[in-house]
Amino acid sequence: MINIHGKLIFYCVDNMAFEFLSENLKNLQTSIAEICRKCQREVSEVTLLPVTKRQPLEKLQALYDLGERHFAENRVQEMLEKAEVLPKDLVWHLIGPLQSNKVRHALSYASYIHSVDSIKLLNRIERIAQEDGKEVKVFLQINITGEEQKSGFAEADLDAALKVAESFLKTTVVGLMTMGAVSDSEEETKEVFSKLRELRDKWQIEYPELKQLSMGMSGDYQLAIPEGATYIRVGSLLLGNREY
Ligand SMILES: *Cc1c(COP(=O)(O)O)cnc(C)c1O
Repeated sequence: MINIHGKLIFYCVDNMAFEFLSENLKNLQTSIAEICRKCQREVSEVTLLPVTKRQPLEKLQALYDLGERHFAENRVQEMLEKAEVLPKDLVWHLIGPLQSNKVRHALSYASYIHSVDSIKLLNRIERIAQEDGKEVKVFLQINITGEEQKSGFAEADLDAALKVAESFLKTTVVGLMTMGAVSDSEEETKEVFSKLRELRDKWQIEYPELKQLSMGMSGDYQLAIPEGATYIRVGSLLLGNREY
């Protein structure tokens, strides 16, 4: 039994959780394979990233037992608490906003950070990575729609960020990340994803490491894969409602 956010959680995989996740995972994998077939992409180009935020450890352990090795969390503290007790061969992705004062903590476990949204943060990640001897792969989060409630670089600032990162020794910008449109129009969501892909295609010529597209969640991964997503971040559809 361990303590997360003051809650005692029984650290064991019960059969219910296992069956539930096994079924959901199978359905999701089938759906991903079907979408890939329709849009003529290789299934191996799309990495399913289970978003385990606010999910109990037993579900993470069950997903691990089912073969999943990449998990995404949106809060540094929660990622650390979970990473400390789960198997060490897990690859952790941070997908939520990162404050400067938490970068060192984040780098103690995160191999990937999807939510880099300023040059200041980018520089800080590189500095701490050098100090602590860590290597980290990052995505630049882009605010395609320009909506105020969303974080991320404006398209116009992407060039400058890529230039800054070019000389980095420990931090590699591997791709771009975005959130779908706030509205639930399919057309607008597709438009957002296809714009992210165009940006990646454009800048990949000058920055060949810029390969990945982190886009698509439970409600819109079906739209993101045909537009080129290489990482889809799926929470509730796979793990059920978040519990705390
Ligand atoms: C929570 C979260 C997700 C997953 O959301 P679901 O709708 O549960 O799939 C994906 N990306 C980010 C950045 C998130 O914070």
